[in-house]
Amino acid sequence: MSAKVWLVGAGPGDPELLTLKAVRAMGEAQVVLIDDLVNPAVLEHCPNARVIPVGKRGGCRSTPQAFIHRLMLRYARQGKCVVRLKGGDPCIFGRGGEEADWLAERGIEVELVNGITAGLAGATQCGISLTQRGVARGVTLVTAHTLDGSSPEWHALAKTGTTLVVYMGVSSLQQVQTGLLEGGLPAWTAVAMIENASLAQQRECRSSLADMCRDALAFRLKSPAILVIGQVAAHAQTLPSLCVA
Ligand code: SAH
Repeated sequence: MSAKVWLVGAGPGDPELLTLKAVRAMGEAQVVLIDDLVNPAVLEHCPNARVIPVGKRGGCRSTPQAFIHRLMLRYARQGKCVVRLKGGDPCIFGRGGEEADWLAERGIEVELVNGITAGLAGATQCGISLTQRGVARGVTLVTAHTLDGSSPEWHALAKTGTTLVVYMGVSSLQQVQTGLLEGGLPAWTAVAMIENASLAQQRECRSSLADMCRDALAFRLKSPAILVIGQVAAHAQTLPSLCVA
């Protein structure tokens, strides 16, 4: 059997948001390396695979990325069908590109499988349309957390006229708020903060750019959460939740 690694997006949590392709890959898998943010309920699709948790809570605190690389390589070289299961989409703040390159450089066949990224799912679950004619002409996905610790260009992002979807922003709310206000985004701009999107424990906090820090504190906003910043967040109505745990 030829060595192959599937880098698979497991979606934001709700198992019904898995793609058929993800389900097929999991069905073929002999080894599954699973991240923290993946809902373990999706593992029902790989009953015969050896499942190895590799998230930070999974016991590889020191050099997790190098450790994960080596594990994938080892199993692939044994001829095993390996699925690396990631939360959301593997290529949206998921290191899918890095892992694919690293494996390809070592001669391992890689296939990427899209998942629904948390930002898209969170907005939809709250009835928010990220683009809307006359309100938002686009959408920008951005992380508040950069590799070198520098801040994203909040001033420039304030001027895009797009809805901003901020990942990994819970511990940087103050910087997000200050940067966008200084960049000229009006204080009344709507903000939705969505925790555990698409899971039974999903919570949402509606606020404004002016009040987001105060409101998040009162709400006790916790990670994982995404921020949706833009007037589309004011137009939305919360839809009845259809999510399953
Ligand atoms: N590849 C993932 C993102 C990983 S980065 C994706 O495409 O969704 C981790 C960040 O994603 C978290 O800090 C949080 O901002 C966001 N996130 C992941 N799952 C989430 C969820 N169920 N609800 C809200 N935010 C989530």
